[in-house]
Amino acid sequence: MTLLTVEGLEASYGPVRVLHGIDLTVERGEVVVLLGANGAGKTTTLRALCQLPGLSTSGRVDFDGRSLVGCRTEEVVRRGIAHVPQGRGTFPELSVEENLDAGAYLRRDRREVRQDIERWYDTFPRLADRRHQSAGTLSGGEQQMLAVARACLSRPQLLLLDEPSLGLAPLVIQHLFEIFAELNRSDGTTILVVEQNATLALSIATRAYVIESGQIVLTGPAAELHHDDGVRRAYLGF
Ligand code: ATP
Repeated sequence: MTLLTVEGLEASYGPVRVLHGIDLTVERGEVVVLLGANGAGKTTTLRALCQLPGLSTSGRVDFDGRSLVGCRTEEVVRRGIAHVPQGRGTFPELSVEENLDAGAYLRRDRREVRQDIERWYDTFPRLADRRHQSAGTLSGGEQQMLAVARACLSRPQLLLLDEPSLGLAPLVIQHLFEIFAELNRSDGTTILVVEQNATLALSIATRAYVIESGQIVLTGPAAELHHDDGVRRAYLGF
């Protein structure tokens, strides 16, 4: 069943048009990866589909059977989308625990929120050790773990991840991707991920899209794109 349908999505920053009619779909339960060169419009696609301010957009964005067009950020979260932006987007002056609480700000089931936070501490023990430390003092890897955990505290149906591996050590990246695969497998969270580390992203993805100059130029099952000569040359480096 289709969870997200994007059709003819255009987006501009002031007079500069960056997206020229993006079409993509994400089925419930999938992990979909969006690949593309620097500046192709990957970040803008995620920003546009969750209706972040500062961008003027047009086109169709339907989520779970209803249009998201014109929704405020809070409504987008309420409908079940969580966005982990590039550069993490945690609140640097708040503690780890306050950041996690902030991720659950729309939930009223406080006891379950507490359980979820403890579960994330089990997943990322480094966050548990630093629960009272301000987020701004965490390492890059710890901040990314916090950003992912915080996003998941809203119990999203769809998780949007913007280059989660950026600037992280290989072992941390490996761990994060195992967590993404696990979130998808056991919690059924649908994931749309933008990633430069194409090999890793394709290894957990069901399908992939390639974006070039604000348009989708290629799509297919992840395994097929992994073996596509053009994709290999451009994004996989072999
Ligand atoms: P990268 O992999 O380098 O992050 P990307 O594919 O995510 O690239 P975007 O960040 O979506 O690309 O940027 C697409 C284009 O939009 C770029 O040419 C960029 O310069 C431009 N752009 C991005 N943000 C803004 C902004 N706030 N104002 C003006 N132009 C912007």
